[in-house]
Amino acid sequence: MRKLVLASNNAGKVREFAALLAPLKFQVIPQGELGIPSAEEPHHTFVENALAKARHASGLSGLPALADDSGICAHALGGAPGELSARYAGEPANDAANNQLLIQNLRDEQNRGAHYVCALVFVNSANDPEPLIVQTRWYGTFIDTPKGTNGFGYDPHFYLPELGLTAAELAPEKKNSISHRGQALREFITQLQSRV
Ligand code: IMP
Repeated sequence: MRKLVLASNNAGKVREFAALLAPLKFQVIPQGELGIPSAEEPHHTFVENALAKARHASGLSGLPALADDSGICAHALGGAPGELSARYAGEPANDAANNQLLIQNLRDEQNRGAHYVCALVFVNSANDPEPLIVQTRWYGTFIDTPKGTNGFGYDPHFYLPELGLTAAELAPEKKNSISHRGQALREFITQLQSRV
């Protein structure tokens, strides 16, 4: 098994990544297990933040590293909250406050189009000149009235017209099969397999 550091301590993500990468002979180690603190995320794009997290984890561990960064982009707001999604309404991160602020900022807008973004970045070393980068989108519309109790974050307000459901009304397996993160993981595995 080849060791790989995951630049996240989110238990759900660790499980998901570990299961998908095991067939590729990668043992996934959450960065917290190695005493690696979270990296700064000072950039304006998902890719730059994911790259910064991956380089940080690889530099401090001496191992290959994988990082992700995600968020929601409202079309009428020029892509906001974007990479600031987790803390849109300020610190500490609060899903309910974030959703209320997005409802408020969209109140006069006809265009309710939105998409989730997931950027995944893998580096072999801290100075890897050729990081493996995947970025995917999941399209929907943002609705004011929440529906559903699954998922997290903006999911109760993220409506999928073709299904007639919000992301929070989807079973986890269904969400994984179509979401930005699910798409990114599958694309990442394909690209990694063509490399190793
Ligand atoms: P993270 O960087 O992937 O942990 O996510 C950043 C933030 O984007 C989260 O705290 C959520 O507010 C939002 N977000 C990202 N992906 C999702 C999703 O699948 N559902 C709901 N919110 C999401």
